[in-house]
Amino acid sequence: MYAKAFDIQKVAMCRQWMAEGQNILLVAHTNADGDACGSLLGLTLMLDQATGADCHVTPVLPNGCPKNFSWLPGAGRILSGETDRDLWRTLLDKADLVICLDLNAASRTDMLAGELRDRRCRKVLIDHHHNPATDEFDLIFSDPQISSTCELVVWLSEKLWGDRYMNRDVATCLYTGLNTDTGGFAFSCEQPSCFEAAAKLVRYDIQPSEINNRIVNTFSVNRMMFYGFALSERMRIYPDQKVALMVFSLEDQKRFGVGGEDMEGLVNYTLMMKEMMIGALLREEKGRTKVSLRSKRGIDVNRIAITLGGGGHTQAAGATCMMPLDETLRAVEKALGIDHVKPIELHCKQ
Ligand code: 5GP
Ligand code: MN
Repeated sequence: MYAKAFDIQKVAMCRQWMAEGQNILLVAHTNADGDACGSLLGLTLMLDQATGADCHVTPVLPNGCPKNFSWLPGAGRILSGETDRDLWRTLLDKADLVICLDLNAASRTDMLAGELRDRRCRKVLIDHHHNPATDEFDLIFSDPQISSTCELVVWLSEKLWGDRYMNRDVATCLYTGLNTDTGGFAFSCEQPSCFEAAAKLVRYDIQPSEINNRIVNTFSVNRMMFYGFALSERMRIYPDQKVALMVFSLEDQKRFGVGGEDMEGLVNYTLMMKEMMIGALLREEKGRTKVSLRSKRGIDVNRIAITLGGGGHTQAAGATCMMPLDETLRAVEKALGIDHVKPIELHCKQ
């Protein structure tokens, strides 16, 4: 699908469902990133205006709004499925329309997935990941070629309502996802429509450089020290295979007082080495290991993520392996065909 082209009948149906909705829930994926938060809030703020005063619109994130995006307009309204479990269930019971954003399957909402799947109400998906779970949604707007879900919301909202509900707050939210999912317009931005969407949003008096500042320059001292440690002590390089891995135990994370949010973007450092074509980051969690995969142009890591039970995009994918760190490392090495290769392990201290 060309980024701005939508099936007219699908758009009309979506408009009607939104207009008829009395209790609308919007849900994005666990460990929300800028695109998940931005598309969730951008659409929420537009729906507030598009629906009647008696309609309740609630944005939900499975494990709440991450601290680094709490500055987004409307972020204070986000319901955490994890901490507000009862309220989530009450709202889901009442919901006549659920809109899922920036995820391709209910499973990406972790502990909310079962309840979300079981609820028999109208369900719309707006997303840009590969392989949408077509049997879980009634109406799907999905385009893996598009830069971000936020871009999809820009064009879909234009088809739904023209520019009627676009304003500075909405544009700030949507620009945030465009920025983060393209690494500041560095990748996943091959289509002109990505820049056209950005240009459209900038016309609403947003501050792109300040938004970028809030996204990028957010490190605590601990996080900066952890990055130093990660690069000098926790990198495994497979030069012949052009692969670099970073592996972090719970103990490493405890030592620096860092967690998953602090590692957002760290995996990209692996690809800053000229020769490296694939980078991976493994992070131990309680009872499971989170895997992030990245690649340079021409290499598909989505396929590798699928073999590990995950998915994502061609050049940025991930998986959650229900295995300890060492077993996951072996599985990742096997999936990458480097299980018989001895890596160079970087250690600055001699
Ligand atoms: P990240 O490495 O930044 O966590 O995720 C990169 C991409 O992979 C994102 O688009 C994300 O949606 C996808 N992804 C990350 N973790 C998982 C996972 O556990 N399962 C699936 N299916 N996709 C994931
Ligand atoms: Mn996204």
